[in-house]
Amino acid sequence: MDEKMQQIVALCKRRGFIFPGSEIYGGLTGTWDCGPLGVELKNNIKKQWWLSMVQSREDVVGIDASIVMNKTVWEKSGHLKAFTDPLVECKICHSRFRADKKEEIENHEKTHKDKVSWTEPKNFNLLVKALFGVLEGEQSEVYLRGEITQGAFVNFENVVSSTRVKIPFGIAQIGKAFRNEITPGNFTYRSREFEQMELEFFVENNDKEADKWFDYWKEQRMSWYAGLGINKDNLRFRKHEDSERAHYAKYAEDIEYNAPFGWSEFEGIHHRGDYDLKAHALNYVGENGEKYTPWVIETSGGVDRSMLFFLLDSFSKEGERTVLKLHPKLAPYKVAVFPLLANKEDLVKRARSIFENLKPQFMTAWDDRGNIGKRYLAQDEAGTPWCVTVDFQTLEDETVTVRDRDTAKQKRIKVEELSQYFQNKLT
Ligand code: ATP
Repeated sequence: MDEKMQQIVALCKRRGFIFPGSEIYGGLTGTWDCGPLGVELKNNIKKQWWLSMVQSREDVVGIDASIVMNKTVWEKSGHLKAFTDPLVECKICHSRFRADKKEEIENHEKTHKDKVSWTEPKNFNLLVKALFGVLEGEQSEVYLRGEITQGAFVNFENVVSSTRVKIPFGIAQIGKAFRNEITPGNFTYRSREFEQMELEFFVENNDKEADKWFDYWKEQRMSWYAGLGINKDNLRFRKHEDSERAHYAKYAEDIEYNAPFGWSEFEGIHHRGDYDLKAHALNYVGENGEKYTPWVIETSGGVDRSMLFFLLDSFSKEGERTVLKLHPKLAPYKVAVFPLLANKEDLVKRARSIFENLKPQFMTAWDDRGNIGKRYLAQDEAGTPWCVTVDFQTLEDETVTVRDRDTAKQKRIKVEELSQYFQNKLT
């Protein structure tokens, strides 16, 4: 694994962003758990996505559909037949790989002295099976959803009849999806359980409308990532080749990140045409009573992949300091409060009351261990944008120092203005 990736994996474990799933029992391939800092970062990503995709718009509504759905959904959607990856097996050691991941195959070949030969590719279905019901023998086989998308389609008529949406409009959703990935790897990048954030945007059934909205959503999604701090040089669009397009897509483009393991997809913009609504025999009645099947432009992003890329992109080493320069809206803790000295009762008391006051408004950390320099370093590594220190001057003039994570500069601010100061920075 690349050195930067190793540093990120170690930081995530050490500071409580991401832990291997079921670690005390040897782990479970392709699963990861969020720790105390990780769950905050992840929730903040989801909150910002919802704010931009649902709350700030009039033409998008949200839903939260079940993970387990009637099997017929997956028959009709084509996933039972076509949600596959091509699998090949190394004839020497029987390791299995995706035939379309040429680099992984070449790397594997280098691990054998003899020339490696491979089995013919065969299609491997990625849907994860489970059993529903209580009576053995009468349990029904179900699938954990392989994409959250279908929840938006099967609820299309429910949403139309229960709200005032009119085409063009979108249904947004965030939730878990499961895939029996052949080669989970690159830390959380390819997992078997992961979370998606998706918009299904329904438009009139013609190329002019579909192209217009496809371009619109492409730009919106790219600027969302850039607006939350990802360096634009590390972002690009990539058009799908005909051979790699999913079974439902008329055309598709990915947003890719320049990861240490190469340019990698973390969001797909797909023109799904009328594929899904037709598959589920769903229609829409337009303004003039005409019945038609709308087309769909989809934006499908990964919460876990974007979390990994936000971490990678914000990671920097400056001398002895490791800093996560996360956008303040994403940072797990916004503020940390310290008494300059932990053994001075009046300093601790004043600092505690400032901490108690800020905590209901912002995620606020408390630290009174070690010296102030070490506390700054610990907060830098957790990505906390501002540290408030209560010192002897505070007791005289009711001001504190506020230290900025990115510049390491400090300024004095009145205690009564602190809350507004942080509020302004976060809006
Ligand atoms: P890949 O080609 O990398 O397997 P995909 O094209 O199959 O991905 P989509 O089906 O378009 O992915 O899924 C949409 C998004 O869901 C992806 O852009 C990614 O962010 C996320 N995603 C898909 N598979 C995984 C996975 N195994 N682990 C983590 N996130 C995933």
